Amino acid sequence: MKRVSILGATGSIGCQTVELIAAAPERFEVVAMTGGRNVALLAEQARALKAQVAVTCHEACRDELAERLSGTGIEVAAGDAAIAEAAARPADWVMSAIVGAAGLLPGLAAIRQGATLALANKETMVAAGPLVLAEAQRHGATLLPVDSEHSAVFQALVGEERAAVERVILTASGGAFRDWPLERLAQATPEQAATHPNWSMGQRITVDSASMFNKALEVIEAKELFGLKPDQVEVVVHPESLVHALVGFNDGALMAHMGAPDMRHAIGYALNWPERRALPVERLDLARLGSLTFRAPEAARYPALGLARRVMEEGGLAGAAFNAAKEAALDAFLERRLGFMAMAPVVEQVLDTMSRDGLLRVDTPGLDAVLGADAEARSRAARAAATQAA
Ligand code: NAD
Ligand code: MG
Repeated sequence: MKRVSILGATGSIGCQTVELIAAAPERFEVVAMTGGRNVALLAEQARALKAQVAVTCHEACRDELAERLSGTGIEVAAGDAAIAEAAARPADWVMSAIVGAAGLLPGLAAIRQGATLALANKETMVAAGPLVLAEAQRHGATLLPVDSEHSAVFQALVGEERAAVERVILTASGGAFRDWPLERLAQATPEQAATHPNWSMGQRITVDSASMFNKALEVIEAKELFGLKPDQVEVVVHPESLVHALVGFNDGALMAHMGAPDMRHAIGYALNWPERRALPVERLDLARLGSLTFRAPEAARYPALGLARRVMEEGGLAGAAFNAAKEAALDAFLERRLGFMAMAPVVEQVLDTMSRDGLLRVDTPGLDAVLGADAEARSRAARAAATQAA
C-alpha cells in the first residue's frame, strides 16, 4: 500500500487525483486531504477515501467540517499551520495541488519528511527553486513534476544524458485571447479570461493562461526543475495542445510528448511512477487530427514571457517577487480593480523597484528571505495596481 496525501484535494488537480486514487483503493492508504471553503466536498472526499485527517485552511470552516465528518473517526483540523502539519504526516507520496505561493510551506513540509512530492504547484519552484531542490536532496525526497509540460519533459528525459540536452520547448495554447485583436485586450473581463480553449482548470491558472503569466511561471519552473540556463527554455504557441513539450538534444533530435489535453495523464504518471499503468485518458487518432500547428508567441500580446526572461537572468529573489506580484495583480484583475493588460506593467514595476532597492539580489535565499520578498512584492503590487487604476 502506498500512503498518499492530497494538498488542495478540492481543486481541479485535486479532484482528478482523488478520482485516480479512488479507482484503485487496494493500492492506496490515504493520510491527509486538505481544502478551503468547499468543506462539503472535502468531507465527501475524505469519507470516500477513508482519510486519516481532513484539513481546511479556513479556521471559520472548522466546525462545519467537523460536523460533516462526525462519527467517521476522521480527524479534523483548520488553518495554515494545520495544513503544513498534515503535509508533514508520514506519507510515501504527496500531491501538491494548492494554488499559489500558499503551496510552498506545505510542500516543504512534505519534502522534509522525505516523501515523493508530486508538484502541480508550480509556484513552489518559481518562488524557491534552489531552496526546494536543496531540501529535497537533504531529506532524500523525490520531486515529480505534474504540470503537463514538465511531466512531458521529465518523460522525454528518461534514460537520457542531461549533458546532451540543448533546449526544452514548452508549448502554449495561447489562452482565451490568442485570436483577439490586440486593441481589444485592454477591455477583456475576468469572465472572458476564465475560459480556456482546450484545458479545464482552476479559475486562476485559466486566467494566467490567457495572459501567459502561466507560461512565464512554467518557463522559470522548467529552468529550476531541470537545471537549465535561461536561453535553453523556449515557448511555442500550439493551439491544439496535443504536443505538451519537446526536448532538443545535441544531435538535433527533438523528442516530443503528445497526448490528449487531460491532466489525469500527468497526475497518473506521477502517481504510478516509476511504473506506467493504464490510465482512463483519450487515445489520439492522428489521422483524424490531420495536422498540428505551431507559431511564435507575440511579445506585445504576451508581455509576461519577457518578464520571465528577466526574472531568470536576475535570479536571487526575483522569482518569489515575480510570482507574488503576479498573484496580487491577478487578484486586482479578478476584482475588476485592474485591466487585463495592466497586470504585466504592475508586475514589471514591482520588479523594477525591488531591484532598484537591492531587494532581489541574494545569493542563496533562505525561506525567510523568500517569504519576505513575497510579502514585499504583494504590498508593492497592490499599491501599483491602485495607482494604475486611479
Ligand atoms: P484550484 O483553484 O482548482 O484548486 C486549488 C486548491 O487549493 C483547492 O483545494 C483550494 O481549496 C486550495 N487552496 C486555495 N487557496 C489555499 C490556501 N491559501 N491555503 C490552502 N489551500 C488553498 O487550482 P488548480 O487549477 O487545481 O491548480 C492547483 C495548482 O496546480 C496550481 O499551482 C496550478 O498552477 C497547478 N496546475 C494546475 C493545472 C490544472 O489543470 N488545473 C495544470 C497544471 C498545473
Ligand atoms: Mg502547464
